[in-house]
Amino acid sequence: MEKDSLDQIRKWISGCKRCKLHSTRRNIVFGVGDEKARLMLIGEAPGYEEDRKGEPFVGKAGQLLTRMLEAINLSRKDVYITNVVKCRPPQNRNPTLQEISACNPYLINQIKAIKPRLILTLGNFATQTLLGKKEGITRLRGRFYNYQGIKLLPTFHPSALLRNPSLKRYAWEDLKLMRGELNSY
Ligand code: URA
Ligand code: SF4
Repeated sequence: MEKDSLDQIRKWISGCKRCKLHSTRRNIVFGVGDEKARLMLIGEAPGYEEDRKGEPFVGKAGQLLTRMLEAINLSRKDVYITNVVKCRPPQNRNPTLQEISACNPYLINQIKAIKPRLILTLGNFATQTLLGKKEGITRLRGRFYNYQGIKLLPTFHPSALLRNPSLKRYAWEDLKLMRGELNSY
């Protein structure tokens, strides 16, 4: 199947049973936003609200993410938002390595279709998956990496900021770094 447009990838993923998360999901959470966005945001996996609505980052963490974007003068429709894993893990447990690799072809092809200039990875899973690194987000955040010619900046996941508000000042530094990069285009 051709996979160079988001519509094609959406057709490709429909009914996906590549991993066992298919059996507990309500909806596949594909992604949302500007299909030509310069900036793509990649989270971990859908939670309860996301699974219900079929849209990424619409629960509590999502509301914080929306405010974080607004703080650097972006709205959700200016960016493209998706997750490493497209179906909700039961009880919001962490996705397994097997689930992440089963779902990875969709993410890789989404990135190829959107061709963003910048990627913001949110938390350990997106960062480690795309960079192929094992260090945690605390070590990796705060600077740009090269992902296939795209500038990739890791930062904390908004859920981590909700659990530990003292991390917010680091996320704010990262957002300002991203704003500066966007301003340079
Ligand atoms: N957390 C994520 O990583 N993704 C979502 O879509 C919602 C919460
Ligand atoms: Fe398919 Fe990804 Fe859902 Fe697993 S998480 S069933 S690989 S869409």
